[in-house]
Amino acid sequence: MVGGVAVGGGAPCAVQSMLNRPPADVSANLAQIEQLAEAGCEIVRMAIPHRKDLDAFEQVCQASPLPVVADIHFDSEIAIGAAKRGAAKLRINPGNVGGLEKTDAIIEAAQAAGIPIRIGVNAGSLDTALATRNDICLAQKLALSAAQYLRYFEERGFYDVVVSAKAHDVPTTVATYRQLAHDLPQVPLHIGVTEAGTLFQGIIKSASGLGILLAEGIGDTLRISLTDDPVQEVRAAWTLLLALGLRRRSPEIISCPTCGRCQVDLISIAKQLEERLRDVKAPLKVAVMGCVVNGPGEAADADIGIACGAGSGALFSQGRILRKVEQSAILDALLEEIGKL
Ligand code: SF4
Repeated sequence: MVGGVAVGGGAPCAVQSMLNRPPADVSANLAQIEQLAEAGCEIVRMAIPHRKDLDAFEQVCQASPLPVVADIHFDSEIAIGAAKRGAAKLRINPGNVGGLEKTDAIIEAAQAAGIPIRIGVNAGSLDTALATRNDICLAQKLALSAAQYLRYFEERGFYDVVVSAKAHDVPTTVATYRQLAHDLPQVPLHIGVTEAGTLFQGIIKSASGLGILLAEGIGDTLRISLTDDPVQEVRAAWTLLLALGLRRRSPEIISCPTCGRCQVDLISIAKQLEERLRDVKAPLKVAVMGCVVNGPGEAADADIGIACGAGSGALFSQGRILRKVEQSAILDALLEEIGKL
């Protein structure tokens, strides 16, 4: 459990993101948590770069509606402090907290606080003996490193663990997590393509890599890492889960790509509809179709749909035609019918 959110054990794949406000700015971090929660974020992570940031971290934890994960590198004392001050989980890389004896102290602090630890290994911080092996590939090295750390934790009686082993390229990410799922079937996995890039590239890289894994049943919690507003990470994560049929939270728009048969400004209608449905939390299907080729079928299949013709469209609800609507009134008519469901 990360706060009240179950991770692993058959629970739905939980959506995470990470705050990017200055750690000392409590109100800015809480405002961002509100935005993320509204978008559907279920677990939020906060970087704690310095010991002096622990006071702010504690205040954020106390006021946050979401469980807050403490993200710590290099300084084990920060991890110990975060465990005492309300962290719902610790995220550490045992390879960079100053040796395994420092890791022991973090494990004890997490045990005392009753919180889990994410063991996050990265290609950049593999130990030298492993990094210099040339008989295995990077994916195997990452998986082996995670397995070694996991064994270390389990030998100390600590089993409340999530594992991640991220790479910035998709094939390595997929191979690593397949290896982890095979080698460590008892452990929940946090999946992600790290440093995936800006919005467009980042979503495609993440969706291609995480899509493969999720379709294979791998991944208990995910973060889509984007060089953008974290709210976009959460929207992308939900859209990916929706696309795979794993979880639904908001409406799905089935809209055609348009072609020479389309006689309304369908692209504009679909984009406006998407924006207007942003805050709707019902798992509806709404079809926005450009002509009679596929329009009536898709519109009738959806909860609400429009099948357009020359400057107008036939409005459908629950499979029945309701009426003809002029192009300028299509958006409002769709929203009105959605509001009735
Ligand atoms: S539904 Fe009609 S307008 Fe839309 S892409 Fe298909 S054929 Fe073209």
